[in-house]
Amino acid sequence: MSATRVVCLAGDCIGPEVMAVATRVLAALAPNVELDERPFGAGAIRQTGNPLPAATLEACRSADAVLKAPIGHPDFDAADVRPEQGMLRLRAELDVYANLRPARDGTIDLLIVRELVGGLYFGARGTREDGTVFDTCEYHPSQVERIARRGFELARARRGKLTSVDKANVLETSRLWRRVVHEVAADYPEVEVEDMLVDNAAMQLASAPEQFDVIVTENMFGDILSDVAAAMTGGLGVAPSASLGDGGPGVFEPVHGSAPDIAGLGIANPTGMLLSSALMLEHGLGLEAEARQLEAAVEQARRLAPTPDLGGAATTDEFSEAVREALTAR
Ligand code: NAD
Repeated sequence: MSATRVVCLAGDCIGPEVMAVATRVLAALAPNVELDERPFGAGAIRQTGNPLPAATLEACRSADAVLKAPIGHPDFDAADVRPEQGMLRLRAELDVYANLRPARDGTIDLLIVRELVGGLYFGARGTREDGTVFDTCEYHPSQVERIARRGFELARARRGKLTSVDKANVLETSRLWRRVVHEVAADYPEVEVEDMLVDNAAMQLASAPEQFDVIVTENMFGDILSDVAAAMTGGLGVAPSASLGDGGPGVFEPVHGSAPDIAGLGIANPTGMLLSSALMLEHGLGLEAEARQLEAAVEQARRLAPTPDLGGAATTDEFSEAVREALTAR
């Protein structure tokens, strides 16, 4: 049997700084997992002219999981070939359609499951002769079915409640969404399902987030609501994500960008990267106990060695050391 292999994409600016923390922790926590670092992003454009070189993509396809740090570099902001193109291509090539965005803090413990490869961001767009500009939102029932099923599976493994967010009072795609979600619900009688209009969901998230367990929603609604949830639970530096397909490797990455303003200062908060590594241990590699250990260690480090974005003064290295100590104390 071949060994478990994770492709690590260290990315740009603070990417390598937070990736170094994650690989150190993973080597200690899961020593049998092979960590295979590959070029990606701005560094790969400089080396090969391509943000996602063919050899990197092949390594990702055959891996058990992909752990990705943020990409994006000011040198390429106005370039034709940009690091961000590599990221969109990677998600599309691996068909990772389910974006998991957990948010946890005190009494809040919710999971947003966002459809990632359909809807408004992928529909036909253009400009008519009269100057009107349009984007279209389309969903095929099979696209809704697979993300709904993923939402129910996840809700069943958690507290058994699923909130499906749509705008069915206005949008045809939302009426399809609601119908398909309720068809799939028949296979999950143990999960309580409710519908919520997106405007109300935004208000409920901001005012009473503890009511939610799993939220399943389409691409654009999920994009916006998951950032609201991140803001409620410690901000950008701490939010993790997992993007999953069916059977193939998932992509696990922090929500934040490459933060060029603080690159090289040694103060990047590695929490989002580490919690993404925990999601990878659980959803990508089936190492649930190790995932729980890592989450608990990160929680402790956040209390004992907060980085400047969390109101503290710890460096990335000091935070990393606090995580290591919490892990060895167990
Ligand atoms: P950003 O998330 O990089 O930074 C926004 C602010 O948050 C900055 O002040 C930054 O210092 C701070 N910040 C972000 N992560 C932090 C961390 N871990 N620790 C401490 N502070 C942190 O967003 P931006 O400035 O809009 O984008 C910068 C670059 O990142 C752009 O090139 C953009 O395209 C790219 N980007 C990449 C991804 C990704 O790889 N998934 C996501 C978003 C943005």
